[in-house]
Amino acid sequence: MIPGAAFHPQYLMKSPCRPISALFCLAVMFSPALLAGDLNERFELTLDRVLKGGPPVYDDSFVLADAAPRHVRRFTEFSGDVSGRYIGALATAARFRGGSFPELDRIVGKVVALQKADGHFGDPFGTGEIASSDMALLWGNGRLLIGLLEYHRLKPTPAVLACARRLGDFFVDVAPRLNSENVRAAFSGDQIAVGYICWTQIIEGLVELNRATSDERYLRLAQQIAAHTHRHPRQHSHGFVTSLRGILELYRITHEAQFLQQVEREWEGVIESGNLLAHGALPEVFKPTNNHTEGCSEADWLRLNLGLWAETRKVCYLENAELTLFNEFAMNQFHTGDFGHRTFTDQRIEAGCARAWWCCTLHGLRAFPEVLNSSFHSEPRGLCYDLPVEGEGRLEGLELRADSTLQQDASVTLTVVKSDGAEQAIIVRRPAWAAALEMRLGQRTVAPAEKAGGAELRRAWKKGDKLHVHYVLRTRLLVQPGSKRVAFMHGPWFLAVDEAHSPSFFDEPSLLNRILLSAAAGSGDPILPRAKESSAKAVRFGVPVARLALRYLPGGYPIQPQTVILRPIAEQSSLADATQWVLWFEPNPGP
Ligand SMILES: [Zn+2]
Repeated sequence: MIPGAAFHPQYLMKSPCRPISALFCLAVMFSPALLAGDLNERFELTLDRVLKGGPPVYDDSFVLADAAPRHVRRFTEFSGDVSGRYIGALATAARFRGGSFPELDRIVGKVVALQKADGHFGDPFGTGEIASSDMALLWGNGRLLIGLLEYHRLKPTPAVLACARRLGDFFVDVAPRLNSENVRAAFSGDQIAVGYICWTQIIEGLVELNRATSDERYLRLAQQIAAHTHRHPRQHSHGFVTSLRGILELYRITHEAQFLQQVEREWEGVIESGNLLAHGALPEVFKPTNNHTEGCSEADWLRLNLGLWAETRKVCYLENAELTLFNEFAMNQFHTGDFGHRTFTDQRIEAGCARAWWCCTLHGLRAFPEVLNSSFHSEPRGLCYDLPVEGEGRLEGLELRADSTLQQDASVTLTVVKSDGAEQAIIVRRPAWAAALEMRLGQRTVAPAEKAGGAELRRAWKKGDKLHVHYVLRTRLLVQPGSKRVAFMHGPWFLAVDEAHSPSFFDEPSLLNRILLSAAAGSGDPILPRAKESSAKAVRFGVPVARLALRYLPGGYPIQPQTVILRPIAEQSSLADATQWVLWFEPNPGP
């Protein structure tokens, strides 16, 4: 555990003219119109951190140390882990934005030269009984395989594809030893990061290698590994969910229903086993040892849910992606742009945290393009706006862009970028967290038709039309299973009390604080007023639209009831690393 590192107050304020960032340079080079919204700004922050930030700095020798290997930093025994993630995350970011990054091209060139004669990277692979060090090596090599292929997708390169083939052949060669039931059983305990998931997470790379080469051996091996993929207590959730993402890719390439069924079954198992927390966090390790979040697991869970939504259009997957995106994924992003770990109890997020540059920062970056590509989808009936984030959507004859000010005023603006003038439908999803959708076309209020899953507006759209969508946010009360504690959500945001803004709430004995709730209205939703704040300063990644006031009796002086501000936990990205949060509250039992 690394204690909270130095806090830079310049990250606190939202500045309209921040220094020219790497992404801004890209925008100038490739001229895509940057969409307005919190999510793009978060993407930019992490991209900037990876390209220009630190410490540690992702320079060539630091990144490549695990592929060589040179044991000069932490975790180089996971051969290819940082190098593979770095390549994959930047290649995917570059593909999303258009263009490439010079440091990416250079590092890919150097990594290819580090490959061993048998196709793997890093330390020698053991020839005896499979050991934990072999598992660590497989993990990193698996990350490197998918990273190289993500680069090849950006920029088809014969030398890179040949390198990926040699690595795939290495996996085929060692497969009989790893597919053994004895090895699976031996590494399905509490090994966490060096468990059997080090083998099963390779599916993703093998499927992509088959896609790139049409070589059936890689697909056959991916299918064999899928048959060996199981969930168990104390398992590393990042490794397991990465394996599920691989099996979903296996379904996409084979169209065999058994693979989709396997992923959906395991998704249900994760939820039913109580491993997903109410604010959308999937802890680092499955029960009973889950007291630690991990940015990688959150990014994987988000991507898995978006993938399942795309394949099935079952709204439970979109809702889970949204829950994680607006809450744990946002909270997990540090003000430096890193992602990482936090410790938690059944009531609080504690001060202990670590910026995990060795995995989460890069894996967090890797998730953004997938989210930004998921705001819309098209159907025969029209163009559907699903996730209330910025993005672009198109179908034949119609192109839209979404700019989001959800955090400020619970609204998004959909602008028609292209239209052929034919009548088309735009369907805006009405989420369960919105009591209603209010829409204006230009200055005119419009009444869309209520259809399954959303509000439909059908007309002959003109270029430049602006459809303004306002979400009427609900406040919802959650009850913690097995206790009387409650938590609050407002719109998509999970609310909590943080130590930085509300130090008095942490006065001893704060565990005896009791909250005062007004009687629920007819809807069952609690009534909490909007918070009155002394300062109206805009804070970067602030969510002023969802700050509510909560009355409580302080544990040490209940004779003087107080008011505290509930804020979205997403606002953690503007706060000092080690800020504590209270998520769950004890209601006052009353007289
Ligand atoms: Zn991680």
